[in-house]
Amino acid sequence: MRVARIRYAFITILFLKTLDPLYAQKTTIQFDVSMDQPAAHTFHVTMNCSGFKGDSIDVKMPVWSPGYYQRLDFANNVENFQVTDASRSTTGWRKMPGNAWRFNNKSASVILSYDVKTIRPFVGTPYLDEARAYILPAGVFLYPAGEIDHPVTVTIKPYSTWKNVATGLDSVAGKQFVYVAPDYDILYDSPILVGNLEEFPAFFVKGIPHRFIAYKPGEFDKVNFMNDLKKIVETATTLMGDIPYKHYTFIGIGPGAGGIEHLNSTTVSFDGTNQNSQQNRLKTYFFLAHEYFHHYNVKRIRPIELGPFDYDNGSRTKMLWVSEGLSVYYEEMIVKRAGLCNEDELFNAFRSNILAYEGKPGRLYQSLTQSSYETWSDGPFGRTGDDVNKTISYYDKGPAVGMLLDFKIRHETKNKRSLDDVMRTLYKEFYQEKKRGFTEDEFRQVCERIAGTSLTDVFDYVSTTKEVDYKKYLQYAGLDIDTTWREIPGGWLGMSVRERKDSVFISGVDWNSPAWNAGLRQRNLVLEIDGAKPDAHVIEPVLKNKIPGDKVDLVVMQGDEKKNVSIVLGKKVEKPFTISRKPDMDKLQKDILESWLNGPKSF
Ligand SMILES: [Zn+2]
Repeated sequence: MRVARIRYAFITILFLKTLDPLYAQKTTIQFDVSMDQPAAHTFHVTMNCSGFKGDSIDVKMPVWSPGYYQRLDFANNVENFQVTDASRSTTGWRKMPGNAWRFNNKSASVILSYDVKTIRPFVGTPYLDEARAYILPAGVFLYPAGEIDHPVTVTIKPYSTWKNVATGLDSVAGKQFVYVAPDYDILYDSPILVGNLEEFPAFFVKGIPHRFIAYKPGEFDKVNFMNDLKKIVETATTLMGDIPYKHYTFIGIGPGAGGIEHLNSTTVSFDGTNQNSQQNRLKTYFFLAHEYFHHYNVKRIRPIELGPFDYDNGSRTKMLWVSEGLSVYYEEMIVKRAGLCNEDELFNAFRSNILAYEGKPGRLYQSLTQSSYETWSDGPFGRTGDDVNKTISYYDKGPAVGMLLDFKIRHETKNKRSLDDVMRTLYKEFYQEKKRGFTEDEFRQVCERIAGTSLTDVFDYVSTTKEVDYKKYLQYAGLDIDTTWREIPGGWLGMSVRERKDSVFISGVDWNSPAWNAGLRQRNLVLEIDGAKPDAHVIEPVLKNKIPGDKVDLVVMQGDEKKNVSIVLGKKVEKPFTISRKPDMDKLQKDILESWLNGPKSF
């Protein structure tokens, strides 16, 4: 159990320090983060270090933050870098290529200071404005090259009128806003939110506290919400049979989109005011269950490439379909098993995953392993522009394959084992015992060992673009899926639009649709539809009264060019992929469906 062990080691070092004067020579690293001028969107950071060995030291800023698989080159946001020694005189330094700074190390202690300029409020980047500070550690804290295993102390100096700090880091007893991380991996995995924050009523699971602290969460029923969140946590921990942390914090960073998982916290874009319909609540529950389940799946049950992390280059893996795709699978299963959605809503969630995957021509080009590996260049949801048609998303196909894998294991073992056993085995054998991630071969070996048979047919859906035979696997659980082609009523244009700053632009174009074949593409501005100025809701009413063969006249801007385009509407056919119970099930099918829907009862 990595966190607990390292924390123990840290306490040991502190203890030795008091006994042995030589330990005073050990490197210490202590950060202060201040935010006196929030309107300037800039953090001021000082890094007090002592005990560095060697004549020159390199310090570096990570190029990415684990959990968000994109290169963000945080070093570009560092300004006013300075180094002073113990006597406060300036020490020579120079910027090295890439993400490093090198300084002369002639003094027992040095103080590095720098500003971090922030640009946008987003879960994957640091941000500061007049309302709150979001410290994404990988974008704020420098690390000494080659020494990420050092303990670090962080003191937060909130803006004068701000009262709260939320983080998964352990605080130092008796000191306000002072936190410790046993090493840089844990520091970089523990974002910090500062402001006038609201804390919802906490809950305990097996005696372990779970908190939700948020910036601008809005007015809604927080007691009810926390009761539901508790059910999600209880269901996930029951599934896995262990809780590996001492406290867990959901950190709501304000309205927006996206969340990132961490070892004992998650940062989520959150707006409670849209919890008013079951549909919106479900979206939130799926999202929170996903980020929460990640503390098992990816933070602890992890592909071998995802830890120790390569902060200088990024860490590529072919298994994001396991880390992300199966987290989508389990977000849906956990919310159902927690009693927060019904069977139809669960089936519908899987249907949406399948529709999104099957609707992309990229399914003929890109496998799950390729989409995992190429996410660094493609982006988490696939490429944009025309190349969008050559990619898929592991968020869509991943959960679908997860469901097939689960049903296959349950069928082969007469419902004695399941994908849940795979997850528990990976947790026990790799996280707890071997204390490392698993390779692709090891993941498959665990699945096949638990299934007691070869799973080549399912793993072909992972590594190839073979057409998926959903029916075969769903019937193991007594389920059916409708894969007959159906004609969608009305005329088909095949594009969607969005409104931004008084203009309407094309937000998506279906491959090979009439709009696509007329040359329309994402981001083209739409100036007119059938002679009228459009708004974001224009497409539906225009199409409602038309049938295939009718025309739509558009005026669009493509780059600097204004174009008149007349498009003949087509006919759209689609497989509905509706999932339902089969009327006649045998005992095994009934048992599989029952235990799949309800999951384990306790641990
Ligand atoms: Zn995720």
